[in-house]
Amino acid sequence: GKKEPTDLNTLVDEYLRLAYHGMRAKNKAFNANLETDFGEAVGEVTLVPQDIGRVVLNLLTNAFHAVDEKKEQAPEGFQPKVSVQTRKNGKYIELRVADNGKGIPEPVKAKIFQPFFTTKPTGQGTGLGLSLSYDIVKSHGGDILVASEEGEGTEFTIKLPSE
Ligand code: ADP
Ligand code: MG
Repeated sequence: GKKEPTDLNTLVDEYLRLAYHGMRAKNKAFNANLETDFGEAVGEVTLVPQDIGRVVLNLLTNAFHAVDEKKEQAPEGFQPKVSVQTRKNGKYIELRVADNGKGIPEPVKAKIFQPFFTTKPTGQGTGLGLSLSYDIVKSHGGDILVASEEGEGTEFTIKLPSE
């Protein structure tokens, strides 16, 4: 793909719907509160739309799985929640995907960007989503950061140069 000026909020919204419908297609009972907060100053970013779209899809699919797994174990009243935020922050655009799912234990966190690393049952995860996302973000001159607390939730932040 080729880098081209792209309205990031529109792209994220498009892939958010794709991710949610993909999840629902596989699991009719799936539901989660989706919160979006699209920064007005974000505007156009030069990027490969299909590639950054893929990153959004990967992060959201992971978030949906994380809240779903927590729901299986969690007490009554757990409200699965996934939120997406975009912001312009100086020379960078930040895209945040946060969930209140199962979280990532510290020893696991060290491995999540490795190709083929997965904690999902055989056939359910390739372990390639985050390693591919890492490569895509790096090839855009950006960065990908993770913060997580086991049992509480996870937040991924993608930083992309804003011009
Ligand atoms: P896959 O989804 O196929 O397992 P990924 O590269 O997308 O591969 O993710 C690797 C691993 O990172 C997952 O198996 C899971 O253990 C962990 N992970 C990624 N995102 C989250 C998240 N939002 N919450 C909890 N764990 C996560
Ligand atoms: Mg994945």
